[in-house]
Formats: sequence, C-alpha cells, structure tokens
Amino acid sequence: MPEKFDVIVVGAGPAGTACALQTARAGLKVLLIERGEYPGSKNVMGGVLYRKQLEELIPEFWKEAPLERPIIEQRFWMLDKESVVSFGYKGLEWGAEPYNNFTILRAQFDQWFAQKAVEAGALLINETVVTECIVENSKVIGVRTDRPDGELYADVVVLADGVNSLLSKQLGFHKEFRPDEVALTVMEVINMPKEKINDRFNLEENQGTTIEIFGDSTKGNLGTAFLYTNKESLNIGVGTTLSSMIKARLKPYDLLDYLKNHPLVKPILQGGESAEYLAHLIPEGGFRSVPKVAGNGVLVVGDAAQLVNAIHREGSNMAMYSGKLAAEAVIKAKERNNYSESSLNSYREALYGSFIMKDLEKYKDAAHIFEKHPQYFKEYVPMMNKAMSKFFTVDGTPKRDKQKQIMKSITAERGTIRVIQDMYRAWKAVK
Ligand SMILES: Cc1cc2nc3c(=O)[nH]c(=O)nc-3n(C[C@H](O)[C@H](O)[C@H](O)COP(=O)(O)OP(=O)(O)OC[C@H]3O[C@@H](n4cnc5c(N)ncnc54)[C@H](O)[C@@H]3O)c2cc1C
Repeated sequence: MPEKFDVIVVGAGPAGTACALQTARAGLKVLLIERGEYPGSKNVMGGVLYRKQLEELIPEFWKEAPLERPIIEQRFWMLDKESVVSFGYKGLEWGAEPYNNFTILRAQFDQWFAQKAVEAGALLINETVVTECIVENSKVIGVRTDRPDGELYADVVVLADGVNSLLSKQLGFHKEFRPDEVALTVMEVINMPKEKINDRFNLEENQGTTIEIFGDSTKGNLGTAFLYTNKESLNIGVGTTLSSMIKARLKPYDLLDYLKNHPLVKPILQGGESAEYLAHLIPEGGFRSVPKVAGNGVLVVGDAAQLVNAIHREGSNMAMYSGKLAAEAVIKAKERNNYSESSLNSYREALYGSFIMKDLEKYKDAAHIFEKHPQYFKEYVPMMNKAMSKFFTVDGTPKRDKQKQIMKSITAERGTIRVIQDMYRAWKAVK
C-alpha cells in the first residue's frame, strides 16, 4: 500500500495553499498537488489581493510577500463611446499599515504562498495532474494522478482545483456550467516604466490604483473591464458572462482590443509593451451555483466551490478563507477520527455562517437580473454620460431648466414608469 496522508489537497492556488498551510501547522501529514510547473504558473487573476483574509493566516505578510502596489485609489468608470462618468475613493490611509488591498502577480505570489505551506511541513509536488478521486464504499479515499504508480491515499481529499473542478464533477457535486454561470475574461500585462505609471495615475512611490470599467468596455453587455497598476506594468482585462458572449457574438480577444483602443483608454496605455496574454473563466453563478461542498472523505474549496463575489471583485480572499475553514474542519475530523460527510459538514456550516455565503446570498439575484435586463449596461450608462455632459456644459441655460431637460430626456427614452421599475429592480438586486 502506498504512503497514506492525513490530507491531500489538489491545487496550489490560494484556496488549496491556505488549507495545506493550516493543516500542516496543526501537525497533520499534508500533500499538496499542483499540475503546473510551479504554483502560479498556470494561474490568472486581475490582480487585487485583499489584506484581511491573508493576514489571518500570515500576520504582517506585506513585510515579506511579493506584492506589487498597495491600492490607495479605487475608481469606477461608466464608459460611453467618447466619454466617461467616473467616481471612486482615494484614501492615503490605504497606503500605510495595515493596508486594504494590493495588486499582485500570481506567478510570484502563489510560489511564495505555497512555500509557506512547505515551511509549515506540507509536501508539495508540482507537475502532477490529479486525474480522479479514488472512491471506495461511497467514500473518497485518495487520488489517482498522471504519474506512474500514481495512486495516493488520505483520510480527506480537499478539492481546490479551480473553476472547472473536473474532480467535483466526477463526484457528481457539480453539473456542467450553464453559460450564465461563468464569465470568460481575457487580460494582458503591459510593461511600463514606473515613472510613467505614477504620472498617468497621479501616484507616488508604492501607491496603486484600480479602475473597474462598465458600459462600452463590454460593448454594453453584462460584464466589466479592469485596469490595475503594478510596480512596472499594468493589468488590463475584460470579461462577460459566456451567455452574453454567445448572444452578442463577441470574441474575447476582439473585446480586449476594442477596450485598448478606446479613445479614453488608449492614452493610458501608450508606450507600454505587451508582456503577456491570459484567459480564464470566473465562476459568477453566485449563491445558487455553490455545489455540495462536503462529502465522505472530501471537501471542496475556492473557485471549485464557485466562491466568487463578482460585484465586489472578491475571489482570492474567499478562496483563502474557505481553505482555512476547510482546514479547521479537517483538524476537528482528525481529533474525532471521523471523516464522514456528517463530520466534515462542520466546514459547510462554517462556510454558510461566514461572510462568504452571507455576501453571495445578498447578491444572489443580481447577476441574473442584470443579464435579463440589459438596459442597465446598454442604455443607462450612455444616458448617464449624456446627462453629465449636458449638466456640465455652460450654454446659458439656467441650471433648473437643465435639470428638467435631463429628467425629460431620460424618461422620454425609457418612459417614467419603466425608469422607476428599473431603479427599484436594481436596488432590490443589490440591497
Ligand atoms: C481575469 C481574472 C481576474 C480576477 N481578478 C481578481 C481580483 O482582482 N481579485 C480577486 O480576489 N479575485 C480575482 N479573480 C478570481 C480569483 O483569481 C479566483 O477566485 C482565485 O484564484 C481562486 O483560487 P483557487 O485556489 O480556488 O483556484 P485557482 O487559483 O484557479 O487555483 C487552482 C489550482 O489548481 C491547480 N489544478 C487544477 N486542476 C488540477 C488537477 N487536476 N491536478 C492538480 N492541480 C490542479 C491549478 O493549476 C491551480 O494552481 C480573478 C479571476 C480572473 C480569471
């Protein structure tokens, strides 16, 4: 019989590594399996890492982790063809300890994070694909890998294999995605000297900006684009739900080109050099798409469990936190020497009691509503732009008359009742 572990974690992304780190710290015998050449080599992310959930695992991690810039400004752009309505928040307090969030490059960050799990005692093996879970008497007892004699055994297997999670599909936890449950996002890393970045974004040394872009960035389809500052590069990306892409016959790379050539985006990128193109799915089905997360001898964490809050751009923090909760459940199960579904269900309970499921529940209807009612992105964004242009153009019209004209043009385009209905529906979706 091959060597047996207390826990095998499949996937060394934020979710799997957090779980491996915590279980190894508790003295368990942990194996972390990653298919990439090294952790992060295959991973894609816009790049915003939140401080809170990682700090719970590694206090003051910002003193040693490979981070790009602390974010001191978060902007939101409602983009039209040749104009933008923007709002946001810039706070210098975010540029000092304990910080709020940082941009990161996953290829560097994931390696560093996985090394922490290794230092805590986990065994990491790279370039190894887990092909299936080994199931005996309805209990997961290990995994089969693509290596010769590649069967490995454990009391618990934690599936942290990302959005596609073929392994939880194999166990019947997941069905195939509906096209409205996932977003396809493409992004590019554009190298640029740091002085240029600082000038263009009005930043000092070690300060960063994020811009989330709605409206014309996705040609009015449900989705968003982003532009984030790294030390010496920018991350620019755009994505829509697969269903929107199919319906509008969009090609992801054409959409990114369209964004990069938008007259308000192009000058920001000017002089930059394309370094990398990446594409990935994001699970955006929300609360109703979360699969079964605990079974006999098995737990599902992170993107594999569809734990992404698309409205707040939170994924990696939820992945880490779910990995931590899964580790706590595994440690408890070990103390009880009981790895049944009912024992491991303490993970499910903790997950549903945490901010993760509370936030996903809060927005459970949002994506479906915005997808069903395309006017929010297609009609209201241009309307807002027109309204602002009118409001700020000094043409001798008294301001009260201007306000009346703006209201009239909005209600004339959609009708008063429909505008009220739209506003009420949007408020209900995010309240
Ligand atoms: C374009 C884009 C932008 C994003 N921007 C942000 C952002 O700004 N902020 C944020 O918080 N989140 C963001 N996210 C979401 C975030 O990236 C994910 O939520 C997060 O990475 C999930 O972590 P994970 O560990 O669950 O999965 P992953 O990071 O996908 O890691 C899964 C790991 O499992 C490995 N693996 C998969 N299958 C196997 C197998 N069979 N055998 C062995 N190894 C396997 C993979 O190689 C990978 O290393 C973004 C996502 C995308 C695609």
